Formats: sequence, C-alpha cells, structure tokens
Amino acid sequence: MVDSREAPQKDIKSATRISVIIPVYNEAGNLERLTNELAEVLGSLEVDWEVVFVDDGSSDNTWSIIKSLHDKDSRIRGLRLSRNFGHQYALLAGLANGTGDALITMDGDLQHPAALIPELVNEWRHGNMIVHTRRIDPPSVPFFKKLSSRLYYRIFSYLSGVKIESGIADFRLLDRKVARDILEFSEEGLFFRGIAQWVGYRSATVPFTSNERFSGRSKYSLKKMLKLAWNGITSFSIVPLRLGIFLGFITSLIAFAEIIYAVIIKIFTDSAVPGWASAVSILSFLFGVLFILLGIVGEYIGRILVEVRQRPRYLIAEQAGLQNFIRDKHSAAEKP
Ligand code: UDP
Ligand code: MG
Repeated sequence: MVDSREAPQKDIKSATRISVIIPVYNEAGNLERLTNELAEVLGSLEVDWEVVFVDDGSSDNTWSIIKSLHDKDSRIRGLRLSRNFGHQYALLAGLANGTGDALITMDGDLQHPAALIPELVNEWRHGNMIVHTRRIDPPSVPFFKKLSSRLYYRIFSYLSGVKIESGIADFRLLDRKVARDILEFSEEGLFFRGIAQWVGYRSATVPFTSNERFSGRSKYSLKKMLKLAWNGITSFSIVPLRLGIFLGFITSLIAFAEIIYAVIIKIFTDSAVPGWASAVSILSFLFGVLFILLGIVGEYIGRILVEVRQRPRYLIAEQAGLQNFIRDKHSAAEKP
C-alpha cells in the first residue's frame, strides 16, 4: 500500500533528490568505475542526485581522485575524515551531509550493484521509509564466513530482541526522516545494521547477488570484524552481564551438593573425601569463569566511559562540494 501522505510529493520527479553515500578506505582503484556506473543508473531515474564519497582516512590517492571526479561533475561530492574512524562512522558523516530526500548507503568496492538502486527507489516511492538489502552470497564465499555470519545474527537477535536477518548489508535506502532520526542518536559505537532495524518504520527488503570486490582487498580485517561484532552485541544487549548471575546460581548449587556429600562421608564412614587434584581443577576453572565475567563487566564499564566523554565520533579534514559540512549532531555547520 502506498503511504498517501508521502506519495504526492515524491511523484514529482524533479523535486526528488537522491543521495548516495559511499564510505571509502583506500579504494582508489574502484572510484572511477563506480562513479560511471552510478552516473548511468541515477541518470536513468530522472531525479536530482548527488554522490557523497566519505574518505575514511585513506593512505592512497583516494582523496585526490574524489576531488578530480568532483571537478568533472559537481554532483560528485566528498568529505575527507581526519583519520580512519571506521566504516560505521564514515557512514554517519555521509548521512549527516547528504541532502537527498532519500539517502542510499553502499560500499565503494562494487560489491553492491548500482543496478539495484532503481528498485530501492521504487520501494521507497511506494511508501517504505527504509529499504534494506539482503546479500545472496556467491558460491565463492567461504563456508566458514557464511556459518559465522549466520551464527552471529542468531546470537545477536536472541540477546537483543532486534531481529537482523543474516546477509543484511550496509547497502540500504533511508528516507531523509529516518536518517535524521538516526543522526539524533549520540551513542558511541553506532551499529547501523542494528539501528536500522531498531528504529522501526515501514520497510522492505530487496535481495541482491553480491559481486566480487572489483579492486583491492577487503578493508575489514579480522580484528575490525570482531570489534564490530562485539560492539553490535554490547550496544544492543545487557544480557551478557546477567551471565554471572546464572553461572553463580549453578555453581552455588553444585557446591552445596558437594558440601552435603562431604559431610555425609565424614560422619558415616571412617574416611574423608579424597581429591587434591579435583579441588584444584575446580578452583582454577571457577577462577577462569570469574575473570571472564569480570572482563565482560569491564567491557560495559568501558563503554560507559567512552559514552560520558562525548567526543565527536569523527572529524572532517576537507570537503569537495560540501561547503557547509556538518561534523556531528552536536556541532553546528562549520567552514573549513
Ligand atoms: N571502509 C571504510 N573504513 C574502514 C573499513 C572499510 O570506510 O575502516 C569501507 C570500504 O572502503 C568499503 C566498505 O567500507 O567501501 C566496506 O568494506 P569492505 O568492502 O572492505 O568490507 P567487506 O565487503 O570485505 O566486508
Ligand atoms: Mg566489500
């Protein structure tokens, strides 16, 4: 069903503006081809459009390519962050500065096909405030990666109560209103895949077949991936903190049974319960568990510390075509 309040305005093609937000980290080899594909697809939509590249502290010539693309076509715009702040914050910087009625986020390595954009826009025109995409993995994706991703989203959904389907990509369309709402969230460690579900609103999901990365290597190292995964869970759930209560109850029950057993043996037989080895192994096991739980508590305390500092989540060093760029929701528009 079409959302009647939104529809009339969106039907006026010339009044519609689409922003495509692309975080890039050392993607020099992909920019030109991606820009050409986007220009062709967006051109065919007969809408007003812009592409906002967010250079997330690249060390190659990504930024100079973005600037030269902007010189050729002013609708190609760019922000350069002062260092590598990570994909999620680069997305945030892009969303804060995109001026479209709908903002599409996608990767800069051509894995997300530009050809899907008309479908996303179509779903939006039919009243969906968020259009998610779900990646259908090509056979080349390693079994381990598929399995770990599936397992992760299962655990995430169980712990947080926010359901994320496996394969949901950071390729999605957000209505301007939703993007503005998300920018209001001042939390550290923003996890887009979770937030985009959490906000609610009417949404649709479009499947796509992921392409191979065109040039370069994946910028998500195992470390970055684990950080994102852990961050996702701790920013959406406090259930891990309750693990201590659960384990405490179980071990107390076992300990209680052991005490009764030892007392009975002592009273009714001539011997005591033997077992230096078992006592030591149980002790060291429980100490291990205790330290893990302490570590989990520490992680959450760390999150609180990071949160209360209220540092800006990214800093912008330079712009191309975005004179009045916005650094974060707390800072007013500023000129470089
Ligand atoms: N990216 C980024 N900052 C980072 C890591 C990645 O802006 O610290 C960008 C990267 O350039 C790409 C997108 O995020 O456009 C997705 O990264 P990548 O393709 O390396 O991830 P993968 O597809 O391997 O999961
Ligand atoms: Mg990729």
